[in-house]
Amino acid sequence: MQIPGLYIHIPFCHQKCNYCNFYSIGSVDDLSRFIKVLLKELSLYNQKLNSFDTIYIGGGTPSVLSIQNLEDILAEIRKNYRIMAESELTIEVNPADIDATYLTSLRQLGVNRLNIGIQSFDDSILRFLGRRHNQQQAVYAIDASHTAGFDNIGLDLIYGVPGQTLMTWQETLSQALSFQPQHLSCYQLTLDADTPLGRQCNKGLFELPREGEQADFFMKTSEFWKMPAISTTRCPILPGVSYWFQGIIRNTGNIPPTSVSAHPPTPLCKESDGGTIVLSADISTTSKKTSCPSRDRNS
Ligand code: SF4
Repeated sequence: MQIPGLYIHIPFCHQKCNYCNFYSIGSVDDLSRFIKVLLKELSLYNQKLNSFDTIYIGGGTPSVLSIQNLEDILAEIRKNYRIMAESELTIEVNPADIDATYLTSLRQLGVNRLNIGIQSFDDSILRFLGRRHNQQQAVYAIDASHTAGFDNIGLDLIYGVPGQTLMTWQETLSQALSFQPQHLSCYQLTLDADTPLGRQCNKGLFELPREGEQADFFMKTSEFWKMPAISTTRCPILPGVSYWFQGIIRNTGNIPPTSVSAHPPTPLCKESDGGTIVLSADISTTSKKTSCPSRDRNS
């Protein structure tokens, strides 16, 4: 029997990004209460499940957790379940949250893989998206992760953002690959009508790229797949796919099934002998999109 992976969703962020329709709350006021419930739920599920081959802590923003929070969660997991030897233990982090001390502590807790929400190395794109970090913090986050000893790092990027050109997207891709990440996820921006950017788009304050332009972004990204920088990096598994199809534990009763993963359920994935790249045509987790996803449909 195939051993499942354990996904834990941390549904809190310090603030909501302008495009985000993931299940997360833009406040950490209830975090302590949530941790108590999570620890209890972890102990209850051991009647049904006993082993996991990987652990993935996603969100939301798991880096809102203190090291003590994480220590408590991991202790509860290890107390109740058998974790396979050499398991990947991943946590998603926001560049705005992490520093050398935090990263070193993660390593000491046994975290051996990071997924960093870079999204862009372009400050104007980051501001448009409402991200809390800037380009300098993005670079620092990756450098500090390497210094702390992480040799398995995934980076998330977003393309198809208004104001982004093929040239600036190429620069962001090149910069991402210069860090030799083990995993690169590139998501196309689409907007849910209930997000701040979705509402602005519906009011005509900006337009998303045309479908043809979106295709150009996608093809440009695909070209990078063939580049040596990605093909020589190492990625033993494709972690996201494991959780997209096998999400096992929801940590509270009020998280909808679509939030088991913070990323879309149907990415286009390619895996080589070396690196892995995940391309997605849709960053949203639901089908309720704004009425202006593309200028082609309005013209
Ligand atoms: S995109 Fe990520 S960091 Fe931003 S609000 Fe959504 S879950 Fe939080």
